[in-house]
Amino acid sequence: MERMLRICQKLYGDYRWGRYDVMRAPRSFPFGGMENPRLTFATPTILAGDRSLTALVAHELAHSWSGNLVTNATWNDFWLNEGFTVYFENRICEAVYGEDYAHAAAAWPWDLKGVIDKLEAKGHHADTHLRLHLEGRDPR
Ligand SMILES: [Zn+2]
Repeated sequence: MERMLRICQKLYGDYRWGRYDVMRAPRSFPFGGMENPRLTFATPTILAGDRSLTALVAHELAHSWSGNLVTNATWNDFWLNEGFTVYFENRICEAVYGEDYAHAAAAWPWDLKGVIDKLEAKGHHADTHLRLHLEGRDPR
């Protein structure tokens, strides 16, 4: 994490939150990670024993810039928050693990059409667009 933090600061400027920690969340934690200024909550499954899942830390650390310093004006544009963060995550991992890792991560066989088809089948048409339409929706 120290190396990632140094890389982040080299790429994007000073870390403005003082201290950065990762807390292992309980098994019931429903997400991979959740960024907060100074502290990330992480799923216990991140502890694979071989450091193979550290991209999650890179992602949550990246939110210290994109998301926590600069963010979308409305939740309808949430994709800006995650889009810049995924880009930053990939730049961090490229610097830590090398260009081959970055190319492999970019080539991950996302089945975006499959995800969209599943959302459509469940009637979640509004969630198949970059710009969300959250007015009147319960965030739960
Ligand atoms: Zn994120």
